[in-house]
Amino acid sequence: MNPNPYAWIEKSLDTIRRADWYRSPQLIESCPGPRVKLAGDWLINFASNDYLGLAGDDRLIQAAIAATQEFGTGTTGSRLVGGHRDLHRQLEQAIANLKQTEDALVFSSGYLANLGAIASIVGQRDLILSDKYNHSSLKNGATLSRAQTVEYDHCNVEDLRTQLEENRASYRKCLIVTDSIFSMDGDLCPLPQLLDLARQFNCMVLVDEAHATGVFGANGAGCVEHFGCTGETLIQVGTLSKALGSLGGYVAGSVALIDFLRNRAPTWIYTTGLTPADTAAALEAVKIVQQEPDRRDRLQQNIETLKYCANQNQLPISNSDSPIFSFLLKDATTALVASSQLKEMGIFAPAIRPPTVSVSRIRISLMATHELAHLQQLVEALGQI
Ligand SMILES: *Cc1c(COP(=O)(O)O)cnc(C)c1O
Repeated sequence: MNPNPYAWIEKSLDTIRRADWYRSPQLIESCPGPRVKLAGDWLINFASNDYLGLAGDDRLIQAAIAATQEFGTGTTGSRLVGGHRDLHRQLEQAIANLKQTEDALVFSSGYLANLGAIASIVGQRDLILSDKYNHSSLKNGATLSRAQTVEYDHCNVEDLRTQLEENRASYRKCLIVTDSIFSMDGDLCPLPQLLDLARQFNCMVLVDEAHATGVFGANGAGCVEHFGCTGETLIQVGTLSKALGSLGGYVAGSVALIDFLRNRAPTWIYTTGLTPADTAAALEAVKIVQQEPDRRDRLQQNIETLKYCANQNQLPISNSDSPIFSFLLKDATTALVASSQLKEMGIFAPAIRPPTVSVSRIRISLMATHELAHLQQLVEALGQI
């Protein structure tokens, strides 16, 4: 009998299960919001990246319906071949306006925006310096580009300098790549210092504003605005699927950069244009981000309240300035148990385990639409774990 060439799959799954690394999706049966219905129970939702509470906003829903009725469900082709709509251009101009960049380009997801941008701007003879804790899409973008990639210690400007001193001269172009708010720890990258080093060593900088867009900066433009770096020459990437409540990604930067990406980024050229519904919803969200700064204020208040209450109750949660907090636990099994205990106490907060992170944890993300009672219930439940 021939050996089964697929037998390894079941074996791998067994290994994953034995380590308590096994994952499966959890079913949500309601509209996104501070409370969601999960497997029949209404829980307070601390598992969402919908920081401003826009994913269930009626204005986004109506914009998506209107766009679908006018332009249909799909764009039927890539942007260069029949899939381009005026809505795409309106959204790109709105993003460029929010970011105060010359132009922007919309991709079908943030993941694809990172893959496409990195893979097209650097190649085999180039160097990428990448923060150790960078998002999977940045790491895979580096792999796809075939540039030499060196990781520097998380947010460690001195280590980055050392790596630049050791490696920069051996390569043609150099790209420094970082999350602006790190997706699992919620801390901010040292952007002004990174830009200083980039100037000294003649490097480009790509910053992933996925968790910062809509959340940081007076106008919600992200960490670049928060750090007073608006107008600096750099490459900004982000998503339409977190604070903007839709689906898709973008790159924002100079006219030349965007023009280059339209001609070279494989994940933009060879994929279907964003749907009219997603595009219109994101366009509505960008307007709301600029017109309703009070949503950011409420989110900031919730961040402060959680920090205060956690401190009062001596809870070991990370000290974050962003809406992302982590409650570190000793291993994957403990994190899984904690997550299911929280569920029994009415709280939805996921266990994040290796290989996503090296230290298992409960990840908590706050929304502008959480109420004080929601946060109090969270703190009480964490206290019991
Ligand atoms: C979520 C995320 C992405 C991917 O964005 P999608 O639009 O969901 O594909 C990229 N980078 C970071 C840092 C993220 O957290």
